[in-house]
Amino acid sequence: MSAPMGPDEGYERALGEFAAALVDLRINHGAPTYKQLSKAAQTAGRTSLSSSAISEAMNGVRLPSMEFTLELVRQIAGHDPQVREAWRERWTRVRRLQRRGTAYRARPERTSPNQGEGQQGFESPPDGPRSAALREAAEIVAQARVEAEVLIAEAQAQADEILRAAEEVKKSAVRDISPAVARLMTRESMRIILLGPPGAGKGTQGMYLKRILGVPKVQIGDLMRENISQGTSSGLLAKQIMDRGDLIPDGVFMDMLRHRLSREDVSDGFLLDGLPRTVEQSQMLDSLVDERGHKIDIALHLDISRDEAVRRISGRRICKKDSSHVAHVLYAPPQGYDACRVCGGGFVARADDSRHVVKNRWAVWEAYTEPTAALYGARGQLVKVSGYGSVDEVTERAVDALAAFFG
Ligand code: ADP
Repeated sequence: MSAPMGPDEGYERALGEFAAALVDLRINHGAPTYKQLSKAAQTAGRTSLSSSAISEAMNGVRLPSMEFTLELVRQIAGHDPQVREAWRERWTRVRRLQRRGTAYRARPERTSPNQGEGQQGFESPPDGPRSAALREAAEIVAQARVEAEVLIAEAQAQADEILRAAEEVKKSAVRDISPAVARLMTRESMRIILLGPPGAGKGTQGMYLKRILGVPKVQIGDLMRENISQGTSSGLLAKQIMDRGDLIPDGVFMDMLRHRLSREDVSDGFLLDGLPRTVEQSQMLDSLVDERGHKIDIALHLDISRDEAVRRISGRRICKKDSSHVAHVLYAPPQGYDACRVCGGGFVARADDSRHVVKNRWAVWEAYTEPTAALYGARGQLVKVSGYGSVDEVTERAVDALAAFFG
């Protein structure tokens, strides 16, 4: 490994930087990708491996290609010019020998000076120059592979160390946030529904809770837009129905959701926002989750009054780039007002956030969704949290309530 490994000052500082980079990844990006891991580790001088080398090493590359071996030499032993040069020369020789070996294929080969003219032959005798060149190339490759195993083992050790460090940093970052979060992180899975009247803060809290809990948010409106823009069969059907001015049947939403919940990223949990809105939808959701051998753990109910909901919704702004980034002109103003603080996109008001529509949505909440919340309550699966106070206060309250529920 090229980075200093002793317990000296430089090492400590590098480790600190690595930790900071990982915390940043953890807080801002959720689970880091190989690319982010590699970048964080390289920033702190903890590895010389590229993201592709890390991923190949982690996935257990055994017999490397020439290109991959040369890349590993460059990345791992590249600081030693002699080693690097020796490998480069070795592979150049292999290439030359292989070229020489195959070049004979196109023409007859003279294996001895006494061979007669016109004698055609594509196969070189075992002692011919073509066979000899290929044999020598194969010997060098075999020897190189033995040595490459050492490099691969080194790459794997570096990759393992990066993952271990990432895991440690993740744990301490979580511990730093709050003891309640640390308790929640010990759970193997978390399937949570966000319930509440329009404007209660489901989208806003989902935006923070998904990062804190490390589970993706599935928002039914986003899912529908995604299906329509990708032209999936459910998306096309939904569009046809909407264009006719009709309401999309539950089955169409469920098909989209079934497909979404079959993806790997939600196998350990999710935060569901925007569904169920009715008792029927909650039953369909139960059987859909049950198909995968899982169950909904809890419905988190954010509670606010109708007046507050109207105040919040009339000032709501959503990011033009990603509608899951929510802000409020007065309460949760974006930095510099016009730029989304999550991604820098500009803000717009949602088309359906007029006072009149909000009142209708509140009526739907009272008539259909509140009874759905009561259903989870009757099953002991409901946690009600006040949606008043600052966004951070509500997040803290929600996390404490979830931790208390999960025990
Ligand atoms: P929902 O998804 O439940 O409809 P949102 O998360 O979109 O609600 O929030 C509605 C509006 O209220 C948004 O403009 C949001 O910025 C704002 N908001 C969310 N939580 C709070 C809060 N705790 N205090 C003040 N405003 C909030």
